[in-house]
Amino acid sequence: MPRLAIEGGSPVRASMLPYGRQAIDAADEQAVLGALGADFITTGPLVNRFETVFAERVGAKFAVAVSNGTAALHAAAFAAGIGPGDEVIVPTMTFAASANCVRYQGGTVVFVDVRDDTLNIDVDAVRNALTSKTRAIVAVDFAGHPSVTEELRSLARSRGLRLIEDAAHSLGATLDAKVVGSFADMTTFSFHPVKHITTGEGGMVTTNDSELASRLRRFRNHGITSTHFDREKVGSWHYEQIDLGYNYRLTDIQCALGLSQLAKLDRWVERRRAIAAKYDKAFVPLKAVRTPAVLEGADPSWHLYVIRLRLSLLNTDRGNIFRALRAENIGVNVHYIPVPWHPYYQKLGYTKGQWPVSEQAYEEMLSLPMFATMTDGDVDDVIAAVEKVLRAHQTPLP
Ligand SMILES: *Cc1c(COP(=O)(O)O)cnc(C)c1O
Repeated sequence: MPRLAIEGGSPVRASMLPYGRQAIDAADEQAVLGALGADFITTGPLVNRFETVFAERVGAKFAVAVSNGTAALHAAAFAAGIGPGDEVIVPTMTFAASANCVRYQGGTVVFVDVRDDTLNIDVDAVRNALTSKTRAIVAVDFAGHPSVTEELRSLARSRGLRLIEDAAHSLGATLDAKVVGSFADMTTFSFHPVKHITTGEGGMVTTNDSELASRLRRFRNHGITSTHFDREKVGSWHYEQIDLGYNYRLTDIQCALGLSQLAKLDRWVERRRAIAAKYDKAFVPLKAVRTPAVLEGADPSWHLYVIRLRLSLLNTDRGNIFRALRAENIGVNVHYIPVPWHPYYQKLGYTKGQWPVSEQAYEEMLSLPMFATMTDGDVDDVIAAVEKVLRAHQTPLP
């Protein structure tokens, strides 16, 4: 058996392979340079164009561009009318921003557990968490697997709850052949460099509801009814601030990059799916690995590829497997620490041990490298390193 790099052996690869990274080409650079030379470098014509093309791509009537995915969630929580005294149901297995948006609005986060297969929100847990104060549900498409099922939609509808889909992981994913972007009242996206497409920082909210769309538009611009660009066009100075909004605008420079990136999305999602299929196939013989579940009718877009370790078949824990893979120069990661475990939420009084599925999953999970420009050689390196490290730690059969 080859010696593990962590024990002084030679690593599977010579340089660190990250778990995710952006791809910027000459067309992207040209697009940004073009925008830099234009009259409006912040709110100009490219914001509208990016929104229009994006809305079309995800099958929504309206898209509102904002400065990042967290701002998108904040805007959605605002437009949903969340305020002090309101309860919003959020799954534990996500990035903190999915819950923080409720806190920005002064609302109360009610954390619920996830399903053991997809690690998406558990609809039965949602049903059990409903009270007379529940106003909204945030459903997170974990790793890129759609989470807004017909069951969740009809539950929200029957209780008069706003449904927000955090689709930071799932741009390009489909459920029953329909693309993510119009399943919920509002769907939020992120254009952080590790996500499917990037604008450096950036985000989007999509909706089919024109009233929500105008609230979202005002919110990203101080709560003001028109933009500087609109006023220049009609030669007017008058505007009104209706709500307390923020400056959450995305610039024309970033939208130029977004448009250029979006043109490559289909190809990139296809590549992510091919990498996921290759991982799935390679890990079948490894009994200590649980590969990600895909429900019937779903076609995830694979922001992450998260394996779960069957710890009973290993003589060590996830932490040691993580460190051993890092030593092999495979940039594994962990998504996520259950959100209520963070000190901020602990101080608010959430106590550990209430979400057994996500808390157990957290001990078992590893995110393997997954990005569209990974070469077949990179994928082979990840597979070789996982095989090498797990074979070294498998408990011998009796
Ligand atoms: C990345 C991410 C966000 C936040 O997006 P930013 O653009 O980084 O603010 C929100 N929710 C989830 C699930 C994410 O992965």
